This record gives sequence, C-alpha cells and structure tokens, in this order.
Amino acid sequence: MKKKLMISACLLGYQCNYKNQCDKVYKETPSKWNQLFDDFEVLPVCPEQLGGMTTPRIPSELTGSVSDVFSGKEKVISQTGQDVTDNFLKGANEVLRIAKIFKPDYIILKSKSPSCGSGKIYDGSFTGKLIEGYGVTAWILKENGFNVKDELQEIS
Ligand code: SF4
Repeated sequence: MKKKLMISACLLGYQCNYKNQCDKVYKETPSKWNQLFDDFEVLPVCPEQLGGMTTPRIPSELTGSVSDVFSGKEKVISQTGQDVTDNFLKGANEVLRIAKIFKPDYIILKSKSPSCGSGKIYDGSFTGKLIEGYGVTAWILKENGFNVKDELQEIS
C-alpha cells in the first residue's frame, strides 16, 4: 500500500498562489513533482483557498508570532491593510480537520508562506525580510503532532 502524502497544492502545479500561478519549483521540474502521484497517495491542499481567499489575491503576512495570531494578539494582514486573520485561521483549521481524517504519513508544505511556511516566514513588513517562524497552517499541524517539512527537505 502506498504511503500518504499531504502537500501544498501549488507545489504540484495547481495555480492557487496569490498570483494565480503554481509555485516556481513545479515550473522548474514538473516531472519530479508529478512523480509523487505514482509514489504516494497524494492529497493536495491550499489553506488560503480553503479559508475563503480569492485567487488571485493580495499577498499577506503575519504581524507577529503565529502563536499570538492564534491567541488573538496579532493578525494576518494583506499588503493593502485588510485583516485576513479569520480566513487564515479557517484555512488552517480546515487543513487540520482533513489531516486528522486522511492521516498522512508525510506533509510537505511550501516554504516561507504565511500559511504553509515552516521555520522561516516573512516578517510582516512586505520587504522580503525573513524571520524564524511558522505559517498559520504549518503551525497548527505541528502543534497537533504532525511532522511538517517544506519542499527543501527530504521526506524521511
Ligand atoms: Fe501554496 Fe500554501 Fe500558498 Fe496555497 S496557501 S498557494 S498551498 S503556499
């Protein structure tokens, strides 16, 4: 039986990112990513779409730590200043709900994203500066015991 993989949909060629495009790593090596469908039982997810965000959409960043976003002290704000925290929390909770049903052996989420990033995310200034941290979905999965990696890490 194949192992189960939950993965950011933009890494598999789905045009779900804020520019209405797939991720550039898929464009560079589509065969590598398509191979995952042969090797695993694959479930692609896009938390921002599951949270009700439009595609395309204005990019967003966290104003503080992800744990403070969950406790209501910080927010997720779009580049034009719209508070999109509720959308991000809804998307994260939807992905968590699905993960509990699907029970993935592996989860690979897109690096640096305010939803999917794990380890490093943008600092909230929309200047491209990275800081230590997690995206909203990556964090809730991790807090619930799922092993989250990004596309730069090997599955093991
Ligand atoms: Fe990709 Fe995640 Fe952004 Fe959706 S929310 S486009 S899956 S990085």
